[in-house]
Amino acid sequence: MKYLDEFSDPDLAKRLVDQIHAVTTRPWAMMEVCGGQTHSIIRHGIDQLLPDGVEMIHGPGCPVCVTPLEIIDRALAIAARPGVIFCSFGDMLRVPGSSQDLFSVKSAGGDVRVVYSPLDALKLARDNPDKEVVFFGIGFETTAPANAMTVHQARRLGVRNFSLLVSHVLVPPAIAAIMESPTCRVQAFLAAGHVCSVMGTAEYPPLAQRYQVPIVVTGFEPLDILEGVRRTILQLEQGRHELENAYPRAVRDEGNIPAMEMLRDVFEVTDRTWRGIGMIPSSGWQLSEKYAEFDAERRFDVTGIRTAESALCRSGEVLQGLIKPHECPAFGKECTPRNPLGATMVSSEGACAAYFTYRRLELVDAK
Ligand code: SF4
Repeated sequence: MKYLDEFSDPDLAKRLVDQIHAVTTRPWAMMEVCGGQTHSIIRHGIDQLLPDGVEMIHGPGCPVCVTPLEIIDRALAIAARPGVIFCSFGDMLRVPGSSQDLFSVKSAGGDVRVVYSPLDALKLARDNPDKEVVFFGIGFETTAPANAMTVHQARRLGVRNFSLLVSHVLVPPAIAAIMESPTCRVQAFLAAGHVCSVMGTAEYPPLAQRYQVPIVVTGFEPLDILEGVRRTILQLEQGRHELENAYPRAVRDEGNIPAMEMLRDVFEVTDRTWRGIGMIPSSGWQLSEKYAEFDAERRFDVTGIRTAESALCRSGEVLQGLIKPHECPAFGKECTPRNPLGATMVSSEGACAAYFTYRRLELVDAK
């Protein structure tokens, strides 16, 4: 197949659904790690096409959703300072901090700007040498290479009024944390194709062996996901637990080697707190000592900020796959995309936003 719409072909989708039904003999619960996959599953009703008892558990793979509240509050504190141009991708502007969001800071006079690339923020820094320009660098292994390259460029060009507020998180430690949880129901994973296109697949076979779970790397189109589900169920039914790459058109086992070299140069692994989940050891990146002068947290000394989550929001349970979004009592009432209480209702990849957008409003719809 050559064109994207071919990966939504209804006849091929039906064939895959039939094959999934043919190989399934009992209930299974698998987690799609990535929020982009969650949206595709809900948008196309893929979970509703699966055999009874096969459950898709929505994982914590939405970068906006898992960015910790402390970091959001630090972003708000930095963005409110005079002389700062605070740059971010658009989906972070409405993520609620303890008491406000970046839009509120902007409407109160803060210089908050939406950019489409971290390099746009670097250009702003070069064009405004009398200002401090900060880029909000969040996300998984997918967005990290561009942020790493921007800091590398800032250092190479001697742009000292640029800094990065970093909150990068890593998928493999999150899979381990999910499997270690006493409430874990996950029996298999659909791994995120775009993460693996950067990092390759080498980190996953040891996880599959240690936790005895199939891990199948998949893409984001309906046929990609259905093929991932088919291969996963086949492994479960046969008692296998291996890594499979069902997304070879984008993922090579060795990953993107220049990107990984850049990441190793700019970042170092650190413990990270995930919003709604808590601290996961060695699950994130921070700037390495070589690039420490570009660390916005150090430059603006914003540690020690106290945070307070909404008492109503149950996004932590949503992110761990313990409840479906519409099982949260605030879903669609106190909490909507226009008035979100938690990040999972804001982000275009958030599970709560997916359920609201695609009208999964009734508990009866849940598989
Ligand atoms: S529906 Fe809103 S309040 Fe409930 S878990 Fe989702 S984001 Fe939080």
